[in-house]
Formats: sequence, structure tokens, C-alpha cells
Amino acid sequence: MFDQLNCPYTIFVAPRIAGGTCEIWWRILELLINAGPRFKARIGTEDFDLPTRNDPEKAMAWAILSPKVEELDQHEQRRVIRSLANERGIDVDGYCRSVAMDWDELREINTDPLCTLAAHSVNHFSVGKMSATDAAFELSQSRAIIARELGEATRFNAYPYGDEPNATLRDFNLAQDAGYEASLTTRKGVVFPGHASHLQALPRIMVSGRFQELRYIDALISGLPTALANRFSKVNVG
Ligand SMILES: [Zn+2]
Repeated sequence: MFDQLNCPYTIFVAPRIAGGTCEIWWRILELLINAGPRFKARIGTEDFDLPTRNDPEKAMAWAILSPKVEELDQHEQRRVIRSLANERGIDVDGYCRSVAMDWDELREINTDPLCTLAAHSVNHFSVGKMSATDAAFELSQSRAIIARELGEATRFNAYPYGDEPNATLRDFNLAQDAGYEASLTTRKGVVFPGHASHLQALPRIMVSGRFQELRYIDALISGLPTALANRFSKVNVG
């Protein structure tokens, strides 16, 4: 599709996902909710016992559980997800390998002149919720591993989840230190000349279920919805 339209595209790579060993927690949680008629588990300090027999019950379980998993300490989050998956016979690494592009596939797509590969932390962690040491590791090591695997330096970064508190001013500075030319948040907006002095905090329009219909994309790119959201303040950083 990108070829037909001659449209450049960027793929953001989290090395541990490409390596096939990442607990892609939001997808594994979905599998866990689908695994039986009830979801029983301890997450953080809370015990849950939720019915998951049909779609409305599953949707309700997801609405309750996903914020709980998301807010856990990032390392703890992965330990919890991996152990719940192990108990229920879900192969976390096998699942990761089945849904994610591996390094060979990334090296191949990187030969496409329209393709840019960029960094997305090592573990798909929320860097803003981590210590400065851990955040610096995620931002610099993702760049180093991608350079080693592809044989070329990556110039760009996108913060996983991408909004406050997942990417903060501290992390914009760490991304600068890690050597990126520019980084993307998920703050809604289109890029204006004023962003030139905020290159580690560029806005990004996330195309997800909320805007799934393609006919909305033109409107999004025009900048009008985000201008409304930002009250026409063009550079929403700080
Ligand atoms: Zn992501």
C-alpha cells in the first residue's frame, strides 16, 4: 500500500519485541481474559475474580484489569503477566514471535527506500514511570541494539504510550543525550515550525480504534481536530 502511494513510513522498533521475548502485556492480558469462564488473579495488591463468559463480560474485565496492569511498576508488570501466562499455559515468547517482525524481516523491509526504522525503547516500557537510570538505559540501548542489528544508526525515537506521565521533560532530555535527532510523543497535533526547538517532544497522531475510519484521516492530518483540542496553541510542550 505504501509503495502504491509512494508514501514514506516509519516502523518503531522495540528490540526485545523484535527479539521475540517481550511480554506484550496488552495482548497477553487479552489472551488471559479469553482463556476461560472466569479471570482470577492477584494484580499488584488487589485480588480479582471476574466473569469472562461472553463479550460484554470480557469487555468489562478488560476495562477493570488493563489500567491495573498498566499502572504497575514496569518490571513488576512483566513479571505478573509472564507468571499468569505460565500458569495458564500461554507461551509468552512464542506469542511474541508469532505477532512481531523479527530482525531478518526488519533488515529486509529496511531495504525499502520508503521505510525508516526508528527506536521505541528496548522493552516497550513507559520510560516516564521509570528511574532516570532505567529510562536512560531504555532510550540509549534501543538505539545501540538497532544500530548493531541493522548496521546503521537510527535517527529517531518514539516513546511507548507517549503521553504524560509516560514521557516527561526528563525523558526528552535523556533522548537528546542518547543522540536522537528527534522523538515523537503521542501528544495530539501536527508539526509546526515552532516545534523546531522541541525536537524531542514532537506531537503524533495515533491512528487507533478511535479513528479507525480512513475518511477521518484527512481531517486529522489537516490539523483541525488537534488545533481544537490544543485551543489553537500550536506548540503544546512543556
Ligand atoms: Zn508502542
